Amino acid sequence: VLVDTEVVARAPKRQLVGGIGDALATWFEARTVRESCSTTVVGGLPSRTGTALAKLCCEILLADGPAACAAVEAKATTPALERVVEANNLLSGLGFESGGLAVAHAVHNGISEIEGSHCHIHGEKVAFGLLTQLVLEGKPQSEIDEIYRYQQAVGLPICLAQVGVDANSDEQLNHIAERSVIPGESSHNEPFPVSTAAVSAALRAADQWGRRLL
Ligand SMILES: [Zn+2]
Repeated sequence: VLVDTEVVARAPKRQLVGGIGDALATWFEARTVRESCSTTVVGGLPSRTGTALAKLCCEILLADGPAACAAVEAKATTPALERVVEANNLLSGLGFESGGLAVAHAVHNGISEIEGSHCHIHGEKVAFGLLTQLVLEGKPQSEIDEIYRYQQAVGLPICLAQVGVDANSDEQLNHIAERSVIPGESSHNEPFPVSTAAVSAALRAADQWGRRLL
């Protein structure tokens, strides 16, 4: 993988932020796949290496993401930006291949079927999928809150309206939830059965949590 950070620094900030959204989910999905002993996208059990790289990816993003975004706003190449580019491109790719996917990407696939979401990029929709996953998994409030505040700080979505979904539309929410749990979807890599009703409830709760922070 060869990335010219001078080019990244001059690219639109949204591209970097979207990359952060996709890469941030890598660790949380890899952790879930490990907990449930599910298989990765390439068919094997997650490797210790993949899980470790996914963890490192997340640590770098949490530490350097806001500074990297500021660097891109200034069209400047800085060490923080270099580290985030490494996390977004190298670590996320390796962590995803050997770490696996879970609800975050399944919800992304559901959101992508809503017309209003079409102007939103992959990483933005994955970011809201990650929040939905953490709520669905019942992770500690402190962990969920940290990810909400981080996503808000770097400019990632924290509510459904920010990915073009009408949170008051039962039709849209049910469609996303149903699409998220079709057979073969990565939502079934959770360590517990995932139903349409559970995803729908998590979508609503995740949206409400985010709206309280706006
Ligand atoms: Zn992705």
